[in-house]
Amino acid sequence: MTSTHDEQALAAAYVLGALDAAERQAFESHLRTCPLCLSEVQSLQRVTQALSQSVPERTPRPEVRARVLSAVTGKSETRERPVTKRSYTSAWLPLAAAIILVAGLASYARVLQGRVSSLETRLDVAERRATAAEQATLEARRAADGAQTVLAVLAAPDLTRVDLRGLRPSPAASARALWSRNRGMVFTVSGLPVAPAGRVYQVWVVTGPAPVSAGLLDLDQSGAATAFFQTPPDIAAPVAVAVTLEPAGGVPAPTGEMYLIGKPGRTL
Ligand SMILES: [Zn+2]
Repeated sequence: MTSTHDEQALAAAYVLGALDAAERQAFESHLRTCPLCLSEVQSLQRVTQALSQSVPERTPRPEVRARVLSAVTGKSETRERPVTKRSYTSAWLPLAAAIILVAGLASYARVLQGRVSSLETRLDVAERRATAAEQATLEARRAADGAQTVLAVLAAPDLTRVDLRGLRPSPAASARALWSRNRGMVFTVSGLPVAPAGRVYQVWVVTGPAPVSAGLLDLDQSGAATAFFQTPPDIAAPVAVAVTLEPAGGVPAPTGEMYLIGKPGRTL
């Protein structure tokens, strides 16, 4: 027996034969262990038997029938309508059965509603777990991809190293770019002041023709970042790598103050 005792609400539906085969079987096996439900069923059976036996002999007076009908339908019957004795009898039994059936089905509907909400809750929990697992998988894959990309750059045969030093706005900052024309750039920086609101640090590969944007830096709270940038495959040989402070979103050509700069060392 559960604490809410849902089964008890099935008694009326059971007595009226409104349960399907599986539900009936389950309820009957519950009945064998639950005196509470058993007595509910027995008392309901007595009521339905009493109704079916007594009603043909004992016809309710027209006022009673009218009261019951109006209570059920919400409409009042007109006294003027001629009603035969036969129609009292034939109308009364289905009405009594209908009242019990409605009561039974209402409690059965509550049981079903309870089952639906409990299934919905379980589904919700399962969905949330699946989403969290998917998220974790995605993050792990992203981290693995990132590590793979960095390794590919570090193993590039044309790897060039650029050490950058902090300029006047942030002399303590330093950075290093490891760059391969084919595989991209791994850029690590530390000691930069946090960018003011609406501004962002942008990394440039300075070539003879023009500086080419490598990408934007997403600093942590200590002013450090490690980033991977792809550079155009046809980019001219870099003469320097630099970092400037630019409007949020970045710009096509540098406009702001320069924070770091370095010249390429030997090819590693
Ligand atoms: Zn029970």
